[in-house]
Amino acid sequence: MARRRKATKLDDLGGLTVVAVLAYLGYPPKDYLLEWIVIGTATVLFWIAFLMPTKCDYLTQRRKPCDRGVRGKLRGCSDHGRWKRDAMWAALGGANPGRLFRVMWAAPDSRAQPRSVRTPGSPAESNAKRGLYDLLMLLTAIISAAGAVLALVVK
Ligand SMILES: [Zn+2]
Repeated sequence: MARRRKATKLDDLGGLTVVAVLAYLGYPPKDYLLEWIVIGTATVLFWIAFLMPTKCDYLTQRRKPCDRGVRGKLRGCSDHGRWKRDAMWAALGGANPGRLFRVMWAAPDSRAQPRSVRTPGSPAESNAKRGLYDLLMLLTAIISAAGAVLALVVK
């Protein structure tokens, strides 16, 4: 059985370049300048946020970033995806609404009582700062996408 080759940024950029060349031929920038700026920016930001091959980079309890491969700066690996989303919500000063649907279980005779492990400068706090950066990227991508739709509708 052949093992799947690891995705690289170069592969993705090659695909994006092919799409850009086709778009260039069909919709020349001299006639569609605003669309090129808005849709191009939105496409690149969307790729960075959700599709680009990169590392999870969630700061673990060993104070080093997780180096598992993921697709998109805003996404986390299978172990840290949930905590990364929580950190992004925490960076906004709120709690992940998905927590409302989490049912947490503990055995009644469990010795381990729930407790907060956050101390100043702890990885959770650092991840909140990192989450703010990631969240700003996401918001910028959404604003660009909305601008792209507006540009198409207004014309
Ligand atoms: Zn991870």
